[in-house]
Amino acid sequence: MERYPTPSNWPANHRAALCISFDVDGVYGERNYRDPSDTYWLSQTEYDRAGVERSLRIMADFDLQATYCWVGQVAVDDPDTLRRAAAEGHEIALHTWDHRYLHTMSEVEQRDDFLRTREALERIMGHAPTGHKTGGWRYNEATHRIAQELGLEWIMDIPNGDLPSLEQPDPLLPPLVNLPPSWLWDDYNWYVDNIASPNQVANAWQDDLDQLREDGGLMSLTLHPFVTGRPGPARGLARFIDYAVSLGDIWIAPAGQIARWWRERAIG
Ligand SMILES: [Zn+2]
Repeated sequence: MERYPTPSNWPANHRAALCISFDVDGVYGERNYRDPSDTYWLSQTEYDRAGVERSLRIMADFDLQATYCWVGQVAVDDPDTLRRAAAEGHEIALHTWDHRYLHTMSEVEQRDDFLRTREALERIMGHAPTGHKTGGWRYNEATHRIAQELGLEWIMDIPNGDLPSLEQPDPLLPPLVNLPPSWLWDDYNWYVDNIASPNQVANAWQDDLDQLREDGGLMSLTLHPFVTGRPGPARGLARFIDYAVSLGDIWIAPAGQIARWWRERAIG
């Protein structure tokens, strides 16, 4: 017999929540850890903008809002694509200035990186982002304290369970809501580090969602436009979203909405 979580963790008695996030790294993500002579691989990231555009079409087809974690330098290079994503109702979040790993920086450098990225995104889209995902999930003990200081509401960094958690490294500042990511919900691991088929990926994610639906959990996907924005993987993603929608009781929402719900539920 199926176990129904009571009461539901989610609004309107939805049985699970799904957050679809895209990390818009542009050409900067790979540049930070690949040899500059590796033009074969580095050139693949030139697909990023085409991938963002396809992802926007998929989200529009489903009439759903995603969360785009945007590298600051990418936003400055191509502000129109960011403006378009924001105008279509998607959430835009911080994803560092140029994807340099935060854990390699001093606290002062990390703060500058956050501020510079926030200013750039705010200037382009007209309002400030409320969330942050650390590039490569390489954060350290200063990172989330800085996010608190800047008044951010959520992070998607710490894979500590199947539900959001409140993180308060500075006990004097309001907590952040952490939406746990997973290496298994990162398209990079499936399609870049391995060569999986879109069907394998969609099937694996359906199993995750089925289990979380039984448990009342949250699934937070991390997708890269230059990876999942490609034709076959995009079809796999569309198949997965179609499955999630067909279940009828999955709350599919941007990270900020999920974080606000969780925070009000946890601390009022
Ligand atoms: Zn990234």
